[in-house]
Amino acid sequence: MRIVVKVGTSTLAHQTGQLNIRHMEELCKVLADIKNAGDEVILVSSGAIGMGMGKLHLRERPKTLPEKQAAAAVGQCELMYTYDKLFSEYNHTVAQILLTGSDVRDEHRRTNFINTMERLLELSTLPVINENDTVATDEIVIGDNDTLAAIVAVHCHADLLILLSDIDGLYTANPRTDPDATLIPVVTEVTYEMMASAGGNGSGSAIGTGGMQTKLTAAVNVMNAGCDMVIANGKNPSILYDILEGGAVCTRFVGKR
Ligand code: GLU
Repeated sequence: MRIVVKVGTSTLAHQTGQLNIRHMEELCKVLADIKNAGDEVILVSSGAIGMGMGKLHLRERPKTLPEKQAAAAVGQCELMYTYDKLFSEYNHTVAQILLTGSDVRDEHRRTNFINTMERLLELSTLPVINENDTVATDEIVIGDNDTLAAIVAVHCHADLLILLSDIDGLYTANPRTDPDATLIPVVTEVTYEMMASAGGNGSGSAIGTGGMQTKLTAAVNVMNAGCDMVIANGKNPSILYDILEGGAVCTRFVGKR
């Protein structure tokens, strides 16, 4: 199987923007093990801006473009340094790919990206992808990593996209405010009602971006490409084993075949 795993800032960093060491160690260990078992793994990782915040001692997520770009430039180094170190412990080689919207919209550049990804996977590396936040201005921005992860899953013909978030999956209502909200385990069609109620339903943290609506849009795109998508809680990365074995608390969106 070719699996794309997306982790959000809320999984990788504390509210302070400092690295969540326990989560990151656990995540790298599980992903290394999944790769050892024979699956191909592509990691889409947020955290550049969040970790830049921590390193630069900024109290809140940067708001202006130059400040975001500066924070991302600092944080991306910290992120890749940490992945390289942790995956090396399990004998895996990481590769960094930073994309902007124009890299995937332009056919020629998209083909280059796809070819490079194929070669990296043949070479058995573990590609780690993020948006190139340092140069992505308004005109060329992808904007959030749920969308980026869906683009990667579709173009790399993945079998499964897993979005690790700070919520267990898609609920019938907002579980933070509605005690009657229940988790929807399987979705075969993203409906208009789901989209409408996702506006106020779902994840959202002080240091990350994204939310349930971007996740549902990602689901529509990957399902149309015949790929499954899972939303699960990343607070315990060993949930990845349960997802692959089919026993996790999560929402699975079934791709069209
Ligand atoms: N690319 C951003 C970062 O690394 C994150 C975007 C997102 O989480 O959606 O900080």
